[in-house]
Amino acid sequence: MIIGFLKEGTTDIAPIVPKNQSKLKAICEEIWIESGIAKGAFYADDTFAEAAIKSRADIISTADVIVQITPDITDEEYGQAKASAIFICQYAPFNDENIVKGLSANGVNAFSLDMIPRTSLAQSMDVLSSMASVAGYKAVLSALTMLPRYAPMMITAAGSIKPSKVLVIGAGVAGLQAIATARRNGAVVEAFDTRAAVREEVQSLGAKFVEVEGAKDDKDAGGYAVEQSDEYKQRQAALIQEKSKAADIVITTAQLRGRPAPKLVTEDTVNNMKPGSVIVDLAASTGGNCALSQNDKVIQHNGVTIIGDSNLPNKMPQDASTLYSNNILNFLKHIVKEGSIDLNSDDEILSKSLISKKA
Ligand code: NAD
Repeated sequence: MIIGFLKEGTTDIAPIVPKNQSKLKAICEEIWIESGIAKGAFYADDTFAEAAIKSRADIISTADVIVQITPDITDEEYGQAKASAIFICQYAPFNDENIVKGLSANGVNAFSLDMIPRTSLAQSMDVLSSMASVAGYKAVLSALTMLPRYAPMMITAAGSIKPSKVLVIGAGVAGLQAIATARRNGAVVEAFDTRAAVREEVQSLGAKFVEVEGAKDDKDAGGYAVEQSDEYKQRQAALIQEKSKAADIVITTAQLRGRPAPKLVTEDTVNNMKPGSVIVDLAASTGGNCALSQNDKVIQHNGVTIIGDSNLPNKMPQDASTLYSNNILNFLKHIVKEGSIDLNSDDEILSKSLISKKA
């Protein structure tokens, strides 16, 4: 089996890092990489001693498994691959139903890494969690660099300074990492989520869990949050407004898979925030949790800085690549059995992430 890794223009995150070559070699005969595959993560081609450098065209036409971060492969290129070739990327089919239709029409065998179920067994393969964790960490650091204040309490000869207050909205993977990072920097942290199940995790990280009573049950939604009633949303908006007024930093991470992000921080809320405070909106790419966020832009509104950076993992490409590459390695170790992949397997991880199969 030849496993090929393609680079792609929109990210510095690499799907393979040097330390994983020998582990990959245990499940395949050859590793093929494009030149510059991990340049953005500061790994030169000569650090990949166990891989062969090949052209993109060679990898697409010859490799048995072709891995990329997000797909930029054209229909023509899919047509040049072997009939049995298997593509592995983050296709995000929940954002556009035409993605699966297009792949199936082209007879492409494709696994989507973002469809791996959120189960305990699959945790080590979960690229969404890995990238969310990096984003949560980087969100706090980005906010702190823009904040005109200290994060921790400071007692100095010139007087003492109160610690900054951080409000984290959405305590999933990104939110929990943001809480931990803000706490490590000495800030006082409050966090809010519609899923009351995260209360203990929030508290164990040293933050206060803020709750709005009456959230809709999400236990059948695969762990993802569900849309809430209008009445709940009004009570939630009032509470977020109250907490945001007192906060120096607001980090929003609330996403609804396959749907626009809920608008949780209104223009009125921003107008009521302290000048100098900072909002980081991790949901900016799906419309934003803040009504004023602009995707991939940093803007100022009435003295409040709003960071709408939806690709924060790209700003920490080396460790993001290590985690991503580990996830891919663990996924391949799970699905490759004795040198081949059984696309008809009823294994849960394999069948749920296989979004298109050649008829
Ligand atoms: P996500 O990115 O889908 O959403 C982030 C957080 O925002 C979630 O906690 C969600 O409840 C919250 N949220 C959504 N709408 C909200 C609203 N209106 N107000 C406040 N908060 C709101 O979440 P995620 O980090 O991808 O995690 C999704 C689920 O998957 C969670 O249950 C998580 O525990 C679970 N998970 C499981 C595994 C695993 O076991 N392999 C790995 C990662 C995540």
